[in-house]
Amino acid sequence: MKQFNAKPIFVGHLNQNVNCYDKLFDLKIGFTNYELYVSDWVEIEDKKDYRGKVEFQECKITILRGMNEQRTKEVIVHEIVHALINESSTENLLEDKEEEFVERFSKVLNQFLIDNTNFHERIKG
Ligand SMILES: [Zn+2]
Repeated sequence: MKQFNAKPIFVGHLNQNVNCYDKLFDLKIGFTNYELYVSDWVEIEDKKDYRGKVEFQECKITILRGMNEQRTKEVIVHEIVHALINESSTENLLEDKEEEFVERFSKVLNQFLIDNTNFHERIKG
């Protein structure tokens, strides 16, 4: 079992030129441990102008370095939603609408997570 890093990441630090590819922390999504990375570029099929990507085989999420805090959170949650869809085997329900669904849904989910950080604490018995 992996140890999850509970320390917050500071988006300002993501702009520091440390390495072109840095591991931030682990995310457990469904039954899978994903590694979250930040990189100077995000490449998908030879195109490098993406803000984020998720790789299911490698269990890896990569986000672009240098975005502001709001956008960084949105992109991470966007990729998490892709991973949740994969984990829940619901991609067939979405078919070619997955990208549009994820783009809209991840924005409201991100805002929910911002507005309700202690959601599970509040409904404890
Ligand atoms: Zn997407």
